[in-house]
Amino acid sequence: MKEIVPAPPAIVRNDYASIRELFAKNVVPSYGRFELVLSHGAGSHVFDVTGKRYLDLGSGIAVCCLGHAHPAITEALVEQSQKLIHVSNLYFTEPQGRLAAELVKRIGPGKVFFCNSGAEANEGLYKLARKFGHDEGRFEMLTATNSFHGRTLAGIAATGQDKVKKGFEPAVTGFRHIPFNDLEAARDALSPATIAILIEGVQGEGGVTPATPEYLLGLRALCDERKLLLLMDGVQCGHYRTGKFQSFQKILEGVPGGETFLPDGLSMAKSLGGGFPMGAFWVRAPYQDLLSAGTHGTTYGGTPLACAVALRILEVIEKENLAEQARKLGAWLKAEIERLARTYPTVVQSARGMGFMLGIELAENIPAFATSDKSAALQFVNRLHAAGVLTVPAGTQIVRLLPPLNLKPQEAGEGISKIEEVVKSLV
Ligand SMILES: *Cc1c(COP(=O)(O)O)cnc(C)c1O
Repeated sequence: MKEIVPAPPAIVRNDYASIRELFAKNVVPSYGRFELVLSHGAGSHVFDVTGKRYLDLGSGIAVCCLGHAHPAITEALVEQSQKLIHVSNLYFTEPQGRLAAELVKRIGPGKVFFCNSGAEANEGLYKLARKFGHDEGRFEMLTATNSFHGRTLAGIAATGQDKVKKGFEPAVTGFRHIPFNDLEAARDALSPATIAILIEGVQGEGGVTPATPEYLLGLRALCDERKLLLLMDGVQCGHYRTGKFQSFQKILEGVPGGETFLPDGLSMAKSLGGGFPMGAFWVRAPYQDLLSAGTHGTTYGGTPLACAVALRILEVIEKENLAEQARKLGAWLKAEIERLARTYPTVVQSARGMGFMLGIELAENIPAFATSDKSAALQFVNRLHAAGVLTVPAGTQIVRLLPPLNLKPQEAGEGISKIEEVVKSLV
């Protein structure tokens, strides 16, 4: 009897409906959201309001680098909030100074500015570049096709994807796009007004495409030769996701000439605060004082609370050797995706990326997807939800895995077996 008529979880279902209703009535519908209402998490898992558990291989889009409800983050939030949450940047505070030093130590000689998001960190880089070129009348920045740099007006002008620009014209002037990983195209595109080139070390939204070592070294040489700033967006691919603090450190590992490589500016956000909203950009030493007093600012940038959390995250990553974890377990995950591509070539085309920034490239024309007009990536992600795994689509054909840096080996195994289940069902 019990099996035939299971008791419906009535209250829980009402929760789902009522929260959906709150959104429908009150929240600007600018996001295409999945039909999941999440309520809490623990480690690499999150739970929805119906009590269903999901393995979170998306980490809130590469944000929750220590997973959910990490005790060290809770402790840092509680301890610092009992002392000082915010005072503004009219004053000095210890956590901001200490965090800046920790970031400089991991990147290279320079200084750091703190803000609140990735788009805002990039905005700072645009202002740095404009300031740098101002007296010569140079202002133009080259960015890559398929790049993503955020949703502010300058951010969508910088982003190399038409879909983010549509409907918001006229665009902020001074941005042009060049094909990614094409050094000659960069050289050919330079104009007398060009002041900077901005790229992601690993394109995220664009489909998990790493820059090649030759491209990074070539752009560095080109920028030196033509007195341009080389700017890098490390918002998604930074903070140990590739196995090194910054993606270029990973990409150039062991490459001759790579040891001394540095960009001139680097934006950070996402994993920096592990879910507590914050952003930052680093400026290389020769340009570190360009943004002088009064030229740039933000009320919330680098609050004691945000910086205390970021400092604690760095401590945990170091103490638990999570960079190594991302490297090793990431290599295992990638090899497993490659195995899926070999075993089920009509569903999985290839594995992309490095460390814990991976992409499953889906094959074209998967028959089971033909009946829906949703992209293959979306349909795959939806099936993974049903199987109890959260991932993030990129473009129409790629599904991103951006797990927390402290993902456990058996959780990686759980993820792969559930992904394989879904893949098998599509053969
Ligand atoms: C997410 C992202 C941004 C924008 O960050 P927000 O915090 O959403 O403003 C910028 N660049 C890259 C590469 C990103 O992945």
